[in-house]
Amino acid sequence: MRFASVSHDDHSQAVAIDGDRAVPLRDIPELGPSTPLSLLRRATLDRDRAVSLDELHFRPLVPSPIRVICVGLNYVAHAHEAGRDVPDEYPVLFTKFASALTGAYDPVPCPPESSAIDYEGELAVVIGERARRIPRERALDAVAGITVSNDVTMRDYQNKTHQWLQGKSWDNSTPVGPVLVTLDEIEDLSALTLRTIVNGQTVQEASTELMIFDIPTLVSRISEFTTLEPGDLILTGTPSGVGFRREPPLLLGPGDVVRVEIDGIGHLENAFVAE
Ligand code: MG
Repeated sequence: MRFASVSHDDHSQAVAIDGDRAVPLRDIPELGPSTPLSLLRRATLDRDRAVSLDELHFRPLVPSPIRVICVGLNYVAHAHEAGRDVPDEYPVLFTKFASALTGAYDPVPCPPESSAIDYEGELAVVIGERARRIPRERALDAVAGITVSNDVTMRDYQNKTHQWLQGKSWDNSTPVGPVLVTLDEIEDLSALTLRTIVNGQTVQEASTELMIFDIPTLVSRISEFTTLEPGDLILTGTPSGVGFRREPPLLLGPGDVVRVEIDGIGHLENAFVAE
């Protein structure tokens, strides 16, 4: 199944996607901590209120998650291009605020303080059931599904210190969505092709097979130290091809349009605008 958090006529609503229609889930305004996958699956569909997808605004897939956990350097070629050691024992983890999230087709503000705005196309995992210390073999039981994200990064701020928070958590900088695709719709999580396209030029293209720490491993490791809750997001890291390491560098500014797509899952498309 496919679910989304949308607004229509200023009214927020969680929906199930049925072809080119969005069907409201009765009494569920958005995906989040109180919407485990088991609840979404048995929600009453308000078919009388279904609307065409092109009439909707897609909000961040989970507008107010308890946790947004990001994985750094999870592809060998990206760790190399970034000039960092390749993690092998333990994933590089950092967080974002929920206020950093934005919708799949929303404009992304370019803050005047940064002169090094970069893209990072990533697969994002959405947690579906509460999990603590879940073993790798059962970790996918806690996952609702996946979506598309762009871990937009202000490189100059990321590199101010050895902590990355201030480069990764600018307001409304991180598109996530448009839809949650449940695992039963996905044949092989480690055979998905992710692509980032800047102004029509493909700049990142890789298979999720290249992840150093795969999705079950990430969920299991993270749940060792924190209780994962429904709606929590895990951004699983970006492959090689980021802008600041290209020759010449490809950094973003007002007027640029970035598309991130995962075959069979969906795409984001965001115009960058002056803040
Ligand atoms: Mg990233």
